[in-house]
Amino acid sequence: MTEISAIGVSSGLVTGKAYVLRRRNYDVPQGRTDDIPGELGRFEEALASIIAETRVMVESARGCSPGSAADILDAYLSLLLDPVVGEGVRDLIGRSHNAAQAVKIGIGKITSMFEGMEDEYMRDRAFDIMDIQNRLLDRLLGDEPGGGDIPPGSILIAEELATSDTVKLDMERVAGIITVCGGRNSHASIVARNMDIPAVVGAADILNLVSTGDDVIIDGFSGEVCVCPTPEAAKSFGERLERYTREKERQRPGVNIPHETADGVQITIGANIGSSEEAARALGYGADEIGLFRSEFMHDNLSYLPDEETQFRSFRDAASAMGGKTVAVRTMDLGADKAFFQTHRLREENPALGYRGIRIQLDHTELLYTQLRAILRAGSFGDIRLMFPMISSVEELRAAKTVLEEVKADLRDDGVPFDEKTLVGMMVEVPSAVIMADRLAKECDFFSIGTNDLIQYTTAADRTNTKVSHLYSHYHPAVLRMIRQTVTAAENAGIGCGICGECAGDPLLLPALIGMGITSISTAPRMISQCCYLISGLNMPQSRELANRVLSCATTREVKQSLTDFAKERNTRRKAPQSPEEVKM
Ligand code: PEP
Ligand code: MG
Repeated sequence: MTEISAIGVSSGLVTGKAYVLRRRNYDVPQGRTDDIPGELGRFEEALASIIAETRVMVESARGCSPGSAADILDAYLSLLLDPVVGEGVRDLIGRSHNAAQAVKIGIGKITSMFEGMEDEYMRDRAFDIMDIQNRLLDRLLGDEPGGGDIPPGSILIAEELATSDTVKLDMERVAGIITVCGGRNSHASIVARNMDIPAVVGAADILNLVSTGDDVIIDGFSGEVCVCPTPEAAKSFGERLERYTREKERQRPGVNIPHETADGVQITIGANIGSSEEAARALGYGADEIGLFRSEFMHDNLSYLPDEETQFRSFRDAASAMGGKTVAVRTMDLGADKAFFQTHRLREENPALGYRGIRIQLDHTELLYTQLRAILRAGSFGDIRLMFPMISSVEELRAAKTVLEEVKADLRDDGVPFDEKTLVGMMVEVPSAVIMADRLAKECDFFSIGTNDLIQYTTAADRTNTKVSHLYSHYHPAVLRMIRQTVTAAENAGIGCGICGECAGDPLLLPALIGMGITSISTAPRMISQCCYLISGLNMPQSRELANRVLSCATTREVKQSLTDFAKERNTRRKAPQSPEEVKM
């Protein structure tokens, strides 16, 4: 057993198996290139993709904590957007360096420049720039496998945790963090507090003392770390951990607060997940349901379609974990900015407007057929609903439902048990679906508004293209009108209508969404408690008034101003009472 005294930066107690993250040595190809436009294109694509990823992180950090995490990520994003980052690289590519070489040399120079600065804050930015370099090299040379395979419940151990690590790793699987470097406000610490993960920094020797798979204990209050504890130490810690977990559960905000407005209107607060393992965690955060199971994410690392049995087990496990609460499984939304199985991968001029979502599944009905069998069968084990992504016409919805009927008939013939009454919904994320919402609502059981896509298609601003990102906003009055129109169509048809896009977790917008008649939202699990607090402080007449006000705004700026004024006036961003962070044991 080895004990280390470090600095606790995110409180809590946890034990688990170590997962050691070592820095990658990049093997950059040497030699000159003849294909300057090609290399430039590769660089621009890599840069745009990490900018898009970072934007999503900024948005979700904003949704779950108004404080420093979003600010730090914002500063990181500004660095990424700084023309200086790209200029040197483009120049080097113009002089026949390949893209990876140009990134290594060009951004390496900027890192050294920052490292030599007097100002401490600016010196610290060198780490961020190095991180940008690594992320670009990952894109250009291919991501190293491994990070995605981190087992659930792992204690992540690293020299320092960078933004790129939090993008690459599935942080939902990280139970604790130990780093050699960093302080209370380093990226690792902020992410840890944000996600309620116990963490310590300044564990100088940790990389020499621990190997992947070792048992590790973390006390995030005192900063104590114990590697390979003796049975006695493990037992004593286990007792402490049990008391701590009980107390924390008692105080967990999302679990104890009723999910309703101050004047008693019930709001379903669901979680978005990408794998069955995340369901239990969502429940722990107080989720009423799984409002969106992105089924394509569970196949992310595969180059082939998982068979029916694998999919069935995954949906069944999510349903069982939710103990009778609803799980809305979305059939695979592949294509565009999401990976498609290698065998089907295509290069397209306009991927967002191309071959994706239901379009692929109606073209390859074998994909849809297999998946629908798995979903219907899993319905025997819990409350599973299914929904189709990217529906842009009544014909598409009908075609998807025809396949569904074929699957049902075959299951009946085969004598396989399944849920005959599985509810069938659709994502509303394309303007044509909004315009036809009254007709679509007559042919399905529920709507789930996917604002991430609805914004891009409404504003004609690619959600991954930074050059037009100033146009991509969920405060755009046109987007709000689209939402309102969809809710009205659903109300008239007597079907449910929720929102599962990122904007559902935005504390500024949420009161207006509730005022528009949204009765269910689905968001990242860790945002649930914040949404509960916010909703419990709202009343419907005020929320409706706010909704009408923003719906009559002419500009995005006016909408944002109205929402900000409302937040200030009504103090809707109530401070959460004592959080688990503050539980001292
Ligand atoms: C959306 O478009 O809002 C959505 C939830 O789907 P995704 O982000 O997976 O495209
Ligand atoms: Mg979408």
